[in-house]
Amino acid sequence: MSYTGPDFEPPQPRRSRLRRPLTVAVAALVPGALLGWGVYAAVGGPDGGGGGDAGHAAGAGASAAPSSDATGSAGGDAKRPAGSSPVPPSGKPSASPSQSAPAAGSGALRGKVVVIDPGHNPANFQHPSEINRKVNVGTHWKECDTTGTATNAGWPEAKFTLDVAHRLRTLLEAQGATVKLTQDGDRSYGPCVDERARIGNEAKADAAISIHADGSGTGNRGFHVILPGPVHDGAADTRPIVAPSAELGKRVAGGFVRVTGTAPANYLGDGTGLVTRTDLGGLNLSTVPKVFIECGNMRDGTDAALLTSGSWRQKAAQGMSEGIVSFLRG
Ligand code: ZN
Repeated sequence: MSYTGPDFEPPQPRRSRLRRPLTVAVAALVPGALLGWGVYAAVGGPDGGGGGDAGHAAGAGASAAPSSDATGSAGGDAKRPAGSSPVPPSGKPSASPSQSAPAAGSGALRGKVVVIDPGHNPANFQHPSEINRKVNVGTHWKECDTTGTATNAGWPEAKFTLDVAHRLRTLLEAQGATVKLTQDGDRSYGPCVDERARIGNEAKADAAISIHADGSGTGNRGFHVILPGPVHDGAADTRPIVAPSAELGKRVAGGFVRVTGTAPANYLGDGTGLVTRTDLGGLNLSTVPKVFIECGNMRDGTDAALLTSGSWRQKAAQGMSEGIVSFLRG
């Protein structure tokens, strides 16, 4: 969809500006950035709050999304031009404290394969019968795919996920990795969750990540990484990937909090930013280390201001990239 609206960069809440440097500074000093989260909470982290994982299955249905896409300010979400070199977008945060990632183009990840799964598909809502078809995810039968959620202003999760996937691909390719997307806005719907897993499996991915944003209640804020739990049922056997996926997830979460300064979810995961699930086909059917990341809650105005910011999405991708690089380098 073409962008026609004003180019806006939602203002960051004052509290975030104040606490981000502190969080980042502390996290940078602590091996294993997860320790930084406790400090985050101590300096005025997220409010408590109930609510559950809405599974972001609320029908977005919004094709006519208002243009809250601020990608123009941070490298854009345009598809990569053919033959272009994988140069990090200009929106890369210059003040990133992480020194763990090698310089762009160093080829540190040469020979490594990363599969990025941009959650949902912007056109899913046009294909209800196809995406509602049930597929076997090992433990049970589940819808092929869902529309995903949207901001209250109507910006779809599927556009968010694809934009972040493009940014992440650019960053990982700059490290020499071979990157494959499960969909690139090039399909009329889907793929189904079982195919999303199969793409990672057949690519023999060294790491796979499925990108999402949640659709929970107002006041529920923050990101979380979803790890596969042990499942051995039908076509699903996650036992070999539980441990490496947990390691991948912890590193992605650490990179995410370090670069974005965003707090872990205040509504699930007990403030750890990590949640284990056994009901997601995309994880249950994976035979390679894989995690989901819910980058924030699109239905919360404060989180939505971040999610619709191109510069914040660039940080989100950078955080994920640093976590993946750290995992792949061991
Ligand atoms: Zn989603």
